[in-house]
Amino acid sequence: MGPLRNAYLDALGIDRWVSRNAPAELVPDVSGAGKGLSGLPDAPTVRAPSTKPENPFPVPSTLPPSADWGVLRERVAACTACAELCRTRTQTVFGVGNTRAEWLVIGEAPGAEEDRQGEPFVGRAGQLLNAMLLAIGLPRETVFIANILKCRPPGNRDPKPEEVSRCLPYLTNQIALLKPKIILAVGRIAAQNLLATDAPLARLRGKLHTFGEANTPLVITYHPAYLLRTPSDKRKAWEDLKFARATHARVTASGSA
Ligand code: URA
Repeated sequence: MGPLRNAYLDALGIDRWVSRNAPAELVPDVSGAGKGLSGLPDAPTVRAPSTKPENPFPVPSTLPPSADWGVLRERVAACTACAELCRTRTQTVFGVGNTRAEWLVIGEAPGAEEDRQGEPFVGRAGQLLNAMLLAIGLPRETVFIANILKCRPPGNRDPKPEEVSRCLPYLTNQIALLKPKIILAVGRIAAQNLLATDAPLARLRGKLHTFGEANTPLVITYHPAYLLRTPSDKRKAWEDLKFARATHARVTASGSA
């Protein structure tokens, strides 16, 4: 193990093991989540006649996917699909990073600092996420980072299912544009919504999943905010990160997982 790796493990607060003998979102529903891109309408869906009055505001998340990052970013910024979230947010948090990245990191939703700055993972959890990525050789600017929700839930409460179903088409549109070689989902909310399951995180990590019609490899690990509260699980997160790194290497070498 090299001195750089040792420095990363130290930054993550992971004890180094030394061998004794020798010198680590029309609105598709959430059930469309695990089907990934199939959750996106190919064309505007024809609505059944409704007795409810029409929403006077256009809801950009009901539009067909965009082939343009700038258009998608504008739609997200103008979104009013969730009445509560668009009233309480300071701004939307689209995502950040390299639009040619091979790695897509997906978290839950913006927190207070992300809502203020308009960028995902910029608080304490973001600093730990940066260290986790660097530990597998990935400076933050080389990956793309996004969230399941683009708006901060007030008080950092869990996203509501209807919020996820309205917002998810933006993420699936991002995935369709980015075409990542691997997705790393951090935390239970990201994992469960991407996989359309309510299985606990413990049963989802340590396995290779796939997302969407492109069968993009999907690896699950702990949310950095959880790891800040439970540092003893950093070692398991390190195993997940090594698993993700090996999966990415295999995919890029062979063209498939
Ligand atoms: N937690 C998340 O899941 N996403 C962020 O952007 C920040 C904290």
